Amino acid sequence: MKNIFFTPGPSGLYFTAEQHIKNALNENIPSISHRSKSYVKMHQETTEALTELLQLPDNFTIGFTSSATEIWDRMSENLIANRSLHFVNGDFSKKFHSAVAAHGKNAESREVEAGTHHDLSSVVMDEDIELIGLAQNETSTGAAMPVEDINLLRSKYPTPLLAIDAVSSLPVPAFDFNQLDSLYFSVQKSFGLPAGLGVWTFNDRCLEKAEAMKANNQYHESYNSLLKIAKMAQKHQTTCTPNVLNIYLLGKVVQDMNTKGIGQIRQEAAYKSALLYNLFESHPKLSAFVADKKFRSQTVGVANVEGGSEKLIAGLAAKGLHIGNGYGEFKNKQIRIASFPTHSKEQIEMLVDEINQLDF
Ligand SMILES: *Cc1c(COP(=O)(O)O)cnc(C)c1O
Repeated sequence: MKNIFFTPGPSGLYFTAEQHIKNALNENIPSISHRSKSYVKMHQETTEALTELLQLPDNFTIGFTSSATEIWDRMSENLIANRSLHFVNGDFSKKFHSAVAAHGKNAESREVEAGTHHDLSSVVMDEDIELIGLAQNETSTGAAMPVEDINLLRSKYPTPLLAIDAVSSLPVPAFDFNQLDSLYFSVQKSFGLPAGLGVWTFNDRCLEKAEAMKANNQYHESYNSLLKIAKMAQKHQTTCTPNVLNIYLLGKVVQDMNTKGIGQIRQEAAYKSALLYNLFESHPKLSAFVADKKFRSQTVGVANVEGGSEKLIAGLAAKGLHIGNGYGEFKNKQIRIASFPTHSKEQIEMLVDEINQLDF
């Protein structure tokens, strides 16, 4: 039986990843020095492929960390001297807020109910907010913020650094990188790679902020501090021995995505998520958790399951189809289904058919 992982992270590997892993072993990628010429070339190929996929402007740097969680700490250290504002609508957006607070900064949390997202058109904030944290795709609930709303927020408040968590949605949303300052993801979600690599893109406004904090003796010289990451990135290197295998795999998978075309990936994402929400709306025991269609994620579909989700999840697992349970308090009440770029239209169609046939 072939297992297919529709879990929202870790998830199914990108469909070309296995071959790239074999190639990596043949090329001795796990054993090369991270200071060698072959590493530097490989690192550059990965960042160039990603720059093309995301259409990153020249004033952005790509840095590598151990995880997205680490990036919350790095931002807390060196992008916020005093105050930040966090749009919280689930567990991941909350975790960033907690990380900043744990660094002793004055982190304000604006919270809305799980399954909803913020109305950014009516936001008012103080002038001294230095950084805004927003999870574009709240993986715990399946609520996503449209890119146009993020751009609107930016036009109203151009001064604070805008830090976007796109961990479980990239590369699907078409972000305008001229309207944000810091955006990050981990590779085990929609890039379909083994866990253990965080990717942090940040612009020169972030570098200026860190320099200003340094001048004020507010800067933290941690091993992966922003300015160190940026300095090493110029040389296509990292501050310490990174996850070399994953940096290689990310480059290969992103090259495959570039060959396929981001337009095609986005079109398929819209189709697959429409199949899932159609299921949630038509099945008598399912209902979409995110009621407002405007805020429904295209990469993580979340549904309430009448009578509980355990039987459905177990029934599918018995057929090799693995979906996620609810997050936190919704553990046994909901299902979460990833429709990432690796998940084909046919796989999602088959999953929908199986759910329709199952007795749960
Ligand atoms: C998974 C996830 C994270 C954390 O990623 P790690 O790789 O576990 O550090 C952060 N934000 C969101 C929205 C996530 O889905």
